[in-house]
Amino acid sequence: MRLVDTHAHLDDRRYDPDRDAVIARAAAESIGIVTVGADLSSSEAAVRLARESAHVWCAVGVHPHDSKTLDRAGLARLQSLATEYRVVAIGEIGLDYYRDLSPRDVQRRVFIEQLTLAQERRLPVILHNRDGTEDLLRILGEVKLPAGGVVHSFLGDEALARRFLKLGLYLGIGGPITYPANDALRRAVAAVPFDRLVLETDCPYLTPVPHRGKRNEPAYVSLVAEEVARVRGIPLEEVAVGTTEGASALFRLAAPSEAPSPGGRSPRPSRGRE
Ligand SMILES: [Zn+2]
Repeated sequence: MRLVDTHAHLDDRRYDPDRDAVIARAAAESIGIVTVGADLSSSEAAVRLARESAHVWCAVGVHPHDSKTLDRAGLARLQSLATEYRVVAIGEIGLDYYRDLSPRDVQRRVFIEQLTLAQERRLPVILHNRDGTEDLLRILGEVKLPAGGVVHSFLGDEALARRFLKLGLYLGIGGPITYPANDALRRAVAAVPFDRLVLETDCPYLTPVPHRGKRNEPAYVSLVAEEVARVRGIPLEEVAVGTTEGASALFRLAAPSEAPSPGGRSPRPSRGRE
């Protein structure tokens, strides 16, 4: 694998006409994909997609927007999905106090339930945070995560980046790093330890320049890598190698014996964890 898109929504209906071609374009560039669930049905779809392609792994979880839909039976279903083949994380989970589509107390309860699941399964978490930073940091300080996690679509400044890094988390950097307004984000990405960065697209959303405004896809993660290389003043290949190592370590994408050879184009399927 040359690059890993650590956050995609391949189940999105916008890919219905050409999903196989979208995955094939990423595979042709040796880009691995972690496709992420946002509710039970998209988590189930993510598991199916990961079964079908050696380039795709998946995360299962319920987004804070959908917290109010997760009842006891749903949580049991999620617990069972977390044991499926090629599930490498619990996500995306977290807090969204910007849109408040679920009551905040419900968001916090469902977040903690899923953090507990990640603890039990020893899986990393993929965190969504919008305007919930203080509660998110407080909860993460209380619920210890044996396998760590990533702050998906990190958009903050260097001070906030360091607060997350202190908890041992990775920062997921995506298309917004290419947007003109995001100087504070670029300064943060230039300043933090390089081995804590992973790349993502959040496709079909947050399309990087120059495709901004159109549908995003995993192959565009290379545009994010180029911008990270530019802001850090290092060669693109260094970004590719470093962030792929970070993603592989966080999500345990390949056991050491299965590590793809340099320049190898098709990673062998990981056995996942037992
Ligand atoms: Zn997402």
